[in-house]
Amino acid sequence: MKMYLVLLSALWSSALMAHEIHIDTDTLKKNLGQSSSRAIFSDKHRKIPPESLAVPSVVTGGRFNENHINRAIAEWSLRQVNDSLRLIDDPWVNEQILTMSAQMNAQVRTQALFALPIIHDDNINAFAVPGGLIGINTGTILSSETMDEVAGVLAHEIAHLSQRHYEQRQDEKGKLMALQLGGLLAAVLASSVSGDLATTALIGSQTATAESMATHSRDHEREADRIGMQIMSQAGYDARAMAVFFGKLYKQVAHLQKDAFIPSFVQSHPLTAERLSDATSRASQYPVMSMIAKNNHAKMFDKLSWRLKYLTKQASMTDLKNASSHSLGAKLAWINALSDDGNTKQALQLLQTGDFERTDPLVCITHAHVLAKQGDHTQAVAVLKSCHALYPERRDLRLHLASELAQVGQTALALSLVTPLTNQNNHDRQAWRITQQIHEKSTTNHTSSAIYALHARSQVELWSGQYQGALQSNAQAIKLAKQHPNLGLLSMLESSKQAMIQAKDYKP
Ligand SMILES: [Zn+2]
Repeated sequence: MKMYLVLLSALWSSALMAHEIHIDTDTLKKNLGQSSSRAIFSDKHRKIPPESLAVPSVVTGGRFNENHINRAIAEWSLRQVNDSLRLIDDPWVNEQILTMSAQMNAQVRTQALFALPIIHDDNINAFAVPGGLIGINTGTILSSETMDEVAGVLAHEIAHLSQRHYEQRQDEKGKLMALQLGGLLAAVLASSVSGDLATTALIGSQTATAESMATHSRDHEREADRIGMQIMSQAGYDARAMAVFFGKLYKQVAHLQKDAFIPSFVQSHPLTAERLSDATSRASQYPVMSMIAKNNHAKMFDKLSWRLKYLTKQASMTDLKNASSHSLGAKLAWINALSDDGNTKQALQLLQTGDFERTDPLVCITHAHVLAKQGDHTQAVAVLKSCHALYPERRDLRLHLASELAQVGQTALALSLVTPLTNQNNHDRQAWRITQQIHEKSTTNHTSSAIYALHARSQVELWSGQYQGALQSNAQAIKLAKQHPNLGLLSMLESSKQAMIQAKDYKP
């Protein structure tokens, strides 16, 4: 059924979103080693006036109605993504990517980003959806060589949002935007269902309309590059890295053009030599980053890339061990992998002898992970508490600490950590999942714990796009609440039911 829907909506769509980057990682890695005989930057570098480096003004958001519509689109897209794709739900990885993106987003948008799912997929891909949802594949992060290259991809997506490229298309082409959105998500979903299916779906979606919009897209692409570099630089990232990463992608596209079996979306992908030439000469006008910033970013990327390799099982125990002699990120990943294997003794020894900053959140999380694997939840709570005291706002520490507190029966304290998260972002599926676990473990007032657990479960189901399940859990909760009248609780459940029905019936 899902496959059918994906195909159907791909055929229905007019085109793949112009800015989507979707390239096979293996071929890219292969090509990176080769020096391309093609002159990629063959066109003469154009002169870019210095005023184009000026600070862009913060976009103060469109009309209320438009924001409202965009929010609904972003919510629907998140439920689709959650339903169909394998995501990286590691709170630390999510925190890193979201913090980086939020810094850049704040340079040009007054609205916070809505969500930033990290998709467990080796292909290089990233996309943005109006309303502030940005998706990025693990393949994009692991094909990058610096934190700034990752930032470049994210900045480009943020720029598409801030420049309202989607809304502009809607104005010009009527309903086209919604159709394209369907196509974008279909392509994203199809690519992780099966590579072959993705190719079929994408070729099927190639229409005359897509071609007529290509020029328009190229302008948007260039603008997203230009604004993206500005916001990177303002947020303290190396704007040059964007041109470097897109240059690597272009090599891949150039290689594919010699191939007889190119998916058509690659041909129409507006990553042109001209665009790259512009990006490269623009990038060269930005100041080179300081050594301090460079070192900090390198440390961040070392931890991020090794943790992702560990989470996606792309590094063997031997790989981790070998790399740990020169990389703290690899050492932390090795410690995690050892404790998953039941070797918590060696893991703890490595933690004690390693050159680790005790207050580093990832060190705390790793330490707690080893202790929890050992069954020592009390110690895990102590380690996470000391770190949480230093960074009370961090979502990753809140989620880990809440889970461990639930393990030792401190459910009230655990709830006080996660409730602000679900209040702030009702779509925080992982916070709802932990909320459910906490209520299930709670030993006080069974009926209300059961109602709250059912409510949390219904939210997990809702944000996973499982509407029937969500409505069933909600109905069970309502039934219980009616037996033990609690008006406040009942009206909360009723309004949550209305929201579920609305979500179920929503069509972008
Ligand atoms: Zn783009």
